[in-house]
Amino acid sequence: TASTKTATNEPTVKINLRIRPPTTNYFRSVHSINDRAILYYPSFQVLTDAGLDVHSFQFDNTFNPDSTQEQVFEKACGDLIHNLDGLNVVFAYGQTGSGKTFTMSGISKRILEYLPYDTHSVDIILLEVIGDTVRDLYTNEPIKVLMDSQGNVQLVGHESMNVENHEQALEVLDFGFKSRKTSKTVHHDVSSRSHFICQIEMTKGKKKSVLKLIDLAGSERNTGHVVHDPERIKEAAFINSSLMALKDCIRNKDDAFVPGPMKTNIVMIATVSPTVNDLDHSLDTFRYAASLS
Ligand code: ADP
Ligand code: MG
Repeated sequence: TASTKTATNEPTVKINLRIRPPTTNYFRSVHSINDRAILYYPSFQVLTDAGLDVHSFQFDNTFNPDSTQEQVFEKACGDLIHNLDGLNVVFAYGQTGSGKTFTMSGISKRILEYLPYDTHSVDIILLEVIGDTVRDLYTNEPIKVLMDSQGNVQLVGHESMNVENHEQALEVLDFGFKSRKTSKTVHHDVSSRSHFICQIEMTKGKKKSVLKLIDLAGSERNTGHVVHDPERIKEAAFINSSLMALKDCIRNKDDAFVPGPMKTNIVMIATVSPTVNDLDHSLDTFRYAASLS
């Protein structure tokens, strides 16, 4: 309950599902009814208890393919933007091509409208994680990630951009999305294999709040999907382990992720493809989402 959460300083975690529109004339195989995701096989039969495959997952919000960016933003992030104290994290999780970048770029733009430019110093850090390397997207240089004796994570050697208004913040965000590295996989000609983090620090006197907007690398786990390149295979292993670590951080309130007595709001947007071919990946995404709540 809400009161228990406050008492233990447990993060508030909201799990959202967004189903991408079909790209071709595939017909819709995943549908959502009353915030309950229900999978249909090609015949559009509802899976029943009689069969082996009953897949039913509960989400805080579900967005069907006809949902607009505005609707996703309002329902998924409405609470967060009106209370940006503490640590706030919005991240998209899903297989490559499922709409993570589309969703994060669309809603991040809108979130930036609500930052307290007039009352706080607002600074933006753009980071990209590829394999075990964290890169500053401004300087294109690797940066160090250190942990102090209290277990606080410190970034060393990164730039941060001070922004005075929404327009300036938008420019920085755009630069970040454009600067991401991409690579070829069998799923998509150009796909993201890196985590992109837009970290926004809002400071007023000694008080600092943080907002992290995160576009994760594709969640498809099978390294067999990646071309036969040892570097790519190694990267895929890092992606897998970092997604598992993220799960543990959220579930166990890991101090490195949720430091000190800070109010923490986490919004996950799980993105899935609507096609039958992608059903296994969609199920993996549902299971990951379910494991967070
Ligand atoms: P990901 O980042 O998960 O790999 P993208 O965001 O790049 O996936 O989406 C893949 C393609 O599908 C892109 O061309 C994108 O514009 C399109 N797309 C994704 N989600 C939607 C949506 N909700 N509405 C319209 N187009 C979408
Ligand atoms: Mg992407």
